[in-house]
Parts: sequence; C-alpha cells; structure tokens
Amino acid sequence: MAFGMKQPHRQRAKLSMAKPRIATLDLRTARPAPKVAASHYTRPEHRQWRAEVIRRAGGRCQGCGRGNTRLFADHIVELKDGGAPLALSNGQALCGSCHSAKTARSRAARLATPTPAPPEP
Ligand SMILES: [Zn+2]
Repeated sequence: MAFGMKQPHRQRAKLSMAKPRIATLDLRTARPAPKVAASHYTRPEHRQWRAEVIRRAGGRCQGCGRGNTRLFADHIVELKDGGAPLALSNGQALCGSCHSAKTARSRAARLATPTPAPPEP
C-alpha cells in the first residue's frame, strides 16, 4: 500500500500556482521540439492511415517479422523530423520492441543534430 503518496503532488501543484518574482531564464542549450504533431494523432485521417499501414503489413512486424503481436503504425520519417503524416510510403507496422528501439534511435539522432532540417514546403 502506498498511502501518503498523493500529498507531495498536491503541494507541488499549489506551489506552482505562486507567481515567480523573477522571470525564468531558459538556460537549456537544446530545447525540446515543440509538440506540433500531437494533435495530428487524434484526426480521423490518421486513424485511417494507421489502419491501412497495419493492414498492409499482413499482421507482421516490418522490423523483425514477428507475428501475433500488437502492431504500431510508425512514421518512417517522424513528423517531428518533417515526415509526411499521411503518406503510406512513410508508414510501417512495427511491434512494440521494434517501435521503441526505432523511436529511441530517432530521438538520439535528433538530439545529436544541432539545427533540425527545415520542413519541406
Ligand atoms: Zn519487431
């Protein structure tokens, strides 16, 4: 039983409401990418794209070939990196472990690149 765990959260929430006296200076050298893509995933066009990517894969992970597993529709070039959101050519079905590994690789590559490439017009 983890009783008493909620208290610190409640306190933190209350504290964050207090107005800071000094403006916060962002000292991070690499700022996280803006969450521009977040709303895309809730659109019906995306749901359709995802269903088609998974259907096309025939129930198999396109990374390791494993079947009988939950599949994730993955953007080969991630949206954060300027990938086309609804192009089937930019989609692949991946199992959980392939998807996690690929996401980690893309993230590492993104962090290693100082300036992201400008999005295609
Ligand atoms: Zn896989």
